[in-house]
Amino acid sequence: MLSFSKIIFTALVIVVVWQGFKLFNRSKQVSGNEQPKQTRHHKKEQSGSVAQEMEKCPDCGVYHAEGSSHRCDA
Ligand SMILES: [Zn+2]
Repeated sequence: MLSFSKIIFTALVIVVVWQGFKLFNRSKQVSGNEQPKQTRHHKKEQSGSVAQEMEKCPDCGVYHAEGSSHRCDA
């Protein structure tokens, strides 16, 4: 009886480890699918930072690219 219970216990451990390994691979695939979304959010943040690089001239109120030479026409 002891050896029989040991065999069942070993089989249960194998099944649990196998199922856990399958879940682990699924989680890796899910995380792999989430990474492109994160890069998309990162691209959105980059576009937002591009918008933040636009500076408003305190004299005439015209938005111009940061660092670019701006001359007030008005
Ligand atoms: Zn100006």
